[in-house]
Amino acid sequence: MTLVVDKFRTLIPPRAKSSPSGWTSFNAPCCQHRGHSPDTRKRGGLRFDGNGIVYNCFNCKFTTGWQPGSPFGEKIKSLSRWMGASEDDIKTMVFEALKTEADDYQEQEYQPKIEFEDKPLPEYSMSLMDWSGIIEGEIEEQIGPQFIEMLRYLMSRGYDNPFEHDFYWSPTPGYIDRVIVPFRWKGKIVGNTARKITDGKPKYLSDQHPHFVFNFDKQSEDQKYIFVCEGPFDALAINGVALLTNDIADQQARIINSLGAEVIVVPDQDQAGLELIKKAIHYNWSVAFPTWDDDVKDVADAVQRYGKLFVIVDLIKTAQKGEIKLTMYKKQQEQKFERL
Ligand SMILES: [Zn+2]
Repeated sequence: MTLVVDKFRTLIPPRAKSSPSGWTSFNAPCCQHRGHSPDTRKRGGLRFDGNGIVYNCFNCKFTTGWQPGSPFGEKIKSLSRWMGASEDDIKTMVFEALKTEADDYQEQEYQPKIEFEDKPLPEYSMSLMDWSGIIEGEIEEQIGPQFIEMLRYLMSRGYDNPFEHDFYWSPTPGYIDRVIVPFRWKGKIVGNTARKITDGKPKYLSDQHPHFVFNFDKQSEDQKYIFVCEGPFDALAINGVALLTNDIADQQARIINSLGAEVIVVPDQDQAGLELIKKAIHYNWSVAFPTWDDDVKDVADAVQRYGKLFVIVDLIKTAQKGEIKLTMYKKQQEQKFERL
């Protein structure tokens, strides 16, 4: 995403509606400035194509846009003003657009300059693949059975071939009955969580930086949606990201928004998950209200029961946006959880 688009996005009104086709619609701000009656039917359509902007009004037929390599023109300036841009905002966009016209301009992916320090995994951790080599060679009585237990657990959770995944294991006391999920940032390991494979507490032993976003490395620039889950296994099940809590910190929001995809938050189906809806309203993100059975509490469970494709389609279809709608849905959820 370019800085021009980044700035322009901040002008989108909070009640805007996103469609799966990539259009964001809201009451067109252009019509009354062009001798037409004001639009009340959300007929202004905005789309971010590649690194540029496309705007069409389906009411007064005003169209404009901007693409990298061209100046920020008069029409898009007018549109920005009508959408509430300050003269400073306009100056910024004109200036950033100018930079894209330079001969040596390289289309840079605008990535947040957020770094996380390396953190070591628990002692004696190795990838499952590395362990399988050792254990097959010479089955160690002590740790062989424990390793196999852990593999069984992963298979029972739907990982038919656990070796294909980025999981680690360590025979260190306290970790031997856990599977370790490394947290990667730009490829480096910057934390981890170790999930217990049996009942018992704590369910997770984690070592992480505050406000980290799990699995962001695996997202791609051209994807249309980014699914935001609470737990790492939920994120892995649908290739989304995980907040590792039911809160959203500003830094996490910046990381997630930097992808330029439509954000769909998938809270766990419990009381605690309701907190996440409030936060989603704050960041003007969509929230999915999936049609799972009452005993299915999170994405990982849902994928096991219904399959990944069904779950993803359902999340997209049931996604809602905007303060009024989300407040209403949140209330319905509250009542449902009280009944259960
Ligand atoms: Zn118009």
